[in-house]
Amino acid sequence: MLLARSCNRQDRPGRVAALKFRGQRPMEKKMGNWPEQLRDLWPGEIEWNSPMARWCTLQVGGPARAVAMPASRAELQSLLAVLARLGVCWRVIGRGSNLLVSGAGYDGVVVMLGRKFAAIAQQAGENGGETLVRVEAGCSLMKLVSWCAAQGLQGLEFAAGIPGSVGGAVVMNAGAWGKEMSVPLSAVTFLRGSGELVERKKDGLVFSYRHLETEGMVVVAAEFLLQAGDRRAIEKRCAQLMRDRKEKQPQGLANAGSFFKNPPGLPAAGKLIQDAGLKGVRVGGAQVSEVHANFLVNTGSATPQDFLDLMRLVQKKVLERFGVRLEPEVHIL
Ligand SMILES: Cc1cc2nc3c(=O)[nH]c(=O)nc-3n(C[C@H](O)[C@H](O)[C@H](O)COP(=O)(O)OP(=O)(O)OC[C@H]3O[C@@H](n4cnc5c(N)ncnc54)[C@H](O)[C@@H]3O)c2cc1C
Repeated sequence: MLLARSCNRQDRPGRVAALKFRGQRPMEKKMGNWPEQLRDLWPGEIEWNSPMARWCTLQVGGPARAVAMPASRAELQSLLAVLARLGVCWRVIGRGSNLLVSGAGYDGVVVMLGRKFAAIAQQAGENGGETLVRVEAGCSLMKLVSWCAAQGLQGLEFAAGIPGSVGGAVVMNAGAWGKEMSVPLSAVTFLRGSGELVERKKDGLVFSYRHLETEGMVVVAAEFLLQAGDRRAIEKRCAQLMRDRKEKQPQGLANAGSFFKNPPGLPAAGKLIQDAGLKGVRVGGAQVSEVHANFLVNTGSATPQDFLDLMRLVQKKVLERFGVRLEPEVHIL
């Protein structure tokens, strides 16, 4: 029953406790040959049986039945309408830099908002020296940061070096150095599964640590309120923050950034993991980074299950040692 439901909104991030990586083929029973129908009804770009390891920075994950890459908002709207009609489950992703996909993959359609969905435009803000920058969700966050710096616009420097798409960064309320996306954001445009566009100004958005409440909607665009500044100084700040990252984070091994959320009011997750003596600990090909203990890295041969087992081991040891239950920041699909 549960598996045969029709999906007219996107799947939510997986809850770890509910993970059982069985091969699931729910839609075949209900929809018959939905891939063929999708191919007939939607003309956009689709990759069939595409290994998610290709699309995720952890470089693990089984195949998605389909990865659809809409090139415009209209294509995305028509895709979601077709998926609703076919009752096929779907999930939007950006650049997969915060995702762990199971070995069984995803028996539905992964909707990827990528480089074709990435326009940036600006207009003067209401107050002098302020500029509104509107950007489509598929734009890379790093590209947006560089673009803003090149225009002499400040407010997004903290995001220099955070991989992923603007849509992913907004949904994750991505942050660094004590700042997060919710600060410069002024509005978000969402698309409901039903095809309706919803514009929410900042005061109608509910942000928390590494989370924006989306109600299952897709972020299609975001608007940032930025201030005029000195181009050179902004570029210099971004370059310095990138250098700081390089020093503190593992290089050359696939990862998804900080794996666990920092527990509120307590030492950072990385410090707790390090103090529990877990730096360098491995499960299969997954390892707690020697450089930064909140990074779980793929030493080359890791499987999704290795990462899950390592995640649970870290949670268990930190709970035993400090009585703190670490919650994953990485979303599990
Ligand atoms: C080396 C490295 C360093 C990192 N450093 C940081 C850091 O300093 N700070 C930080 O906060 N994060 C960091 N991250 C994590 C990651 O880069 C961010 O969370 C990023 O914002 C995720 O964007 P994405 O496009 O890759 O999202 P994805 O990983 O593709 O998706 C993340 C979640 O958002 C959902 N989603 C994505 N796009 C949309 C959309 N348009 N509409 C609705 N839902 C959507 C997905 O379904 C998924 O649940 C780091 C990752 C790496 C690999």
